[in-house]
Amino acid sequence: MKIIIIGAGPGGYETAAEAASRGIETILISDGPLGGTCLNEGCIPTKALCAIDAPDQERKQAVIEQLRAGISQLMRNKLITLVEGRAKLLSPRSVEAAGSVYEADAIIIATGSVSASLPIPGAELTIDSAAMLNLSNVPRRLCVIGGGVIGLEFASVYRKFGSEVTVLEFCPGILPRFDTDLAKRLKASLVKRGISIETSARVTAIAPGKVLWTKADKEYETEADCILMAVGRRPNLASLNLDDLGITHGPRGIAVDANMQTNVPGIYAIGDITGGMMLAHVASAHGRRALNHICGTPDGIDFSIVPAAVFTVPEVACVGKTEEECEGMEILTGKANYRANGKAVASGEADGWCKVVAEKASGRILGAHIMGAHASDIIHEAAVLIALGATVSQAGDIIHAHPTLSEVLLAAIRSC
Ligand code: NAD
Repeated sequence: MKIIIIGAGPGGYETAAEAASRGIETILISDGPLGGTCLNEGCIPTKALCAIDAPDQERKQAVIEQLRAGISQLMRNKLITLVEGRAKLLSPRSVEAAGSVYEADAIIIATGSVSASLPIPGAELTIDSAAMLNLSNVPRRLCVIGGGVIGLEFASVYRKFGSEVTVLEFCPGILPRFDTDLAKRLKASLVKRGISIETSARVTAIAPGKVLWTKADKEYETEADCILMAVGRRPNLASLNLDDLGITHGPRGIAVDANMQTNVPGIYAIGDITGGMMLAHVASAHGRRALNHICGTPDGIDFSIVPAAVFTVPEVACVGKTEEECEGMEILTGKANYRANGKAVASGEADGWCKVVAEKASGRILGAHIMGAHASDIIHEAAVLIALGATVSQAGDIIHAHPTLSEVLLAAIRSC
């Protein structure tokens, strides 16, 4: 068995490593560095900046290089061939890259996504998240267009570095797809930390040093030394030759079935390119699903239970259903505050909150939403409880160590 994987982000390289561990010969083609957006201009450099008090480019680069060396080591496997170049699909079994043609039994497309922009005058005066990560100075005034995940992470980091930060969000609330209670609490906490947030704000144009926007038919201007465009990402479909092969796709990405297979048998697509949840861990789980299908091995991956974390200060994390998604169902909700948790108060991290959503009739836990220190770690306990179908009474009986932040989740479960 031989496969070709196009793209070396978390979807591509993790799937290559997994395929090789199953004895499958793998050709990994990429026109960018190993690790993709996540390692080189996304999750990892952002977290490297979150951990320090100034934009230390040397440290950020050292972190990237250390992790990239780890991936290179993982790819040093006699079953994996790395090809540097842009891939073009020639047929359902062949791909051209770097002047050669490669053939395989199956092809997995994992080319990720690129930053989107707004079609407004002056958009070229803004920078995207990748460019933002390369700044070595701290802008005095930063204006962030988009109060989503990327916008708020940079707003938090640069506020910590000392910038005056304004976030302009088009929707009535920040993090529009998250639980509304959670998003409101995060907004209040960010505002308390000095970030100015305008919601229902429509950006109409960018002029040198300022952003023009409207809200309820009134016109406003925000002066800024740096303007970050963070209004989403779009699938990276460039030069794959999808139309010639008749692969169904649209502006949101390549269409796939539950096995991540496109409408052309033998061609799979995983991760951001499929336009779903643009998260590194979803891309690698997609890759496992595709590989399992190629190998004829069923799996139990549940794509409705995906933990998501936003590395703002404070962090937020969630898994499962939001209260809004339970509309029409009879539910229980339980809430707990970090300020009632011994560890949180003792360690000076009392700004936080947790909500658990459960089905009223069965008591089964459906979702958890956390804002506060280590939310991104605590959320996995909730993911396990949801995946195993635990009820609030079963989960409430599980003894938790004291004093720990995990007791906040337990308190929310018990208060359902
Ligand atoms: P996003 O979709 O999370 O947020 C974009 C925001 O921009 C939305 O709130 C949207 O309402 C707003 N917006 C759209 N048009 C606007 C306009 N004209 N004016 C003002 N606001 C406008 O997208 P993102 O933050 O760019 O992130 C892209 C993807 O990357 C997302 O899928 C995200 O989940 C993923 N990502 C995840 C993480 C993480 O999990 N920690 C980190 C970074 C990125």
